[in-house]
Amino acid sequence: MKIIQDLIPVGNNRRGTPLTVQYITIHETGNSSVGSDAAMHNRFIRSVDNIARPASWHFTVDDHSIYQHVPTSEQAIHAGTAAGNKMSIGIEMCINSDGDFEQTKRNTQWLVGELLTEFNLTKDKIRQHFDWSGKNCPATIRRTNTWQAFIDGIGDDDMNLKLGDKGVYVRIWQLFLKQQGFNIGTGGAAADGVTEEFNAATANATMLYNKKKGIAIDVGQVSVQTVLRASEDLIFTIKLRDNEAARMAAVLGNQGTLITDQTEQITGLKTKIASAITELQK
Ligand SMILES: [Zn+2]
Repeated sequence: MKIIQDLIPVGNNRRGTPLTVQYITIHETGNSSVGSDAAMHNRFIRSVDNIARPASWHFTVDDHSIYQHVPTSEQAIHAGTAAGNKMSIGIEMCINSDGDFEQTKRNTQWLVGELLTEFNLTKDKIRQHFDWSGKNCPATIRRTNTWQAFIDGIGDDDMNLKLGDKGVYVRIWQLFLKQQGFNIGTGGAAADGVTEEFNAATANATMLYNKKKGIAIDVGQVSVQTVLRASEDLIFTIKLRDNEAARMAAVLGNQGTLITDQTEQITGLKTKIASAITELQK
């Protein structure tokens, strides 16, 4: 995702105090009003009332955007304790009633994953606002007992397939799209459109698939959610090319036709394929 950087001016809620990032703190805005998305909070944070509080945080995430208000090299005022402000990046998740909170969580997971990498931190350094000050925040995640699931979902983005990707996973995805009746084009050398390259036609078909499954991703990208939803679809059968079939069959234990049942996720499938590739390379 793209992060929209719109830094607030230095002042009462941005004091320029250096931050050494040791933790990441997760918040929810507590504002379920219609329209209270990241753009709205980007306006709110610079309002006179908010500057007077004062309060600030580094990022606001909703179901379609991420705004950055304070550089990660500077402390913000969000944790309710000096220690929390001194050591952590603050991320606010929007809970606006006209938003898709599940997508907001996924976008936040992506952002946290990026920050963990950037600051060389592990997942045990992710904190709830509650952990610093005892405030019931992030309230929705706490109420629904989904904190661990939220943490577990961070870092899954490396499963994504996107424009420009190549290889066997792309091939499998293209075959799946074809089987589901999507047009993946007939470009390249492959008459059937199965080019093993995540090209524009594949991206377009993927976007349509995401749309059909109600996944709020506006680009043609195979996300974790796409994979999960795909696993709900009809049993899908991948016919391997003849020269792959025999050797893959030996690894996968069936007759050259790879079949997943409805409960098996493509993630599991990928593991199998990865080991199959390892075998093929021997
Ligand atoms: Zn909070």
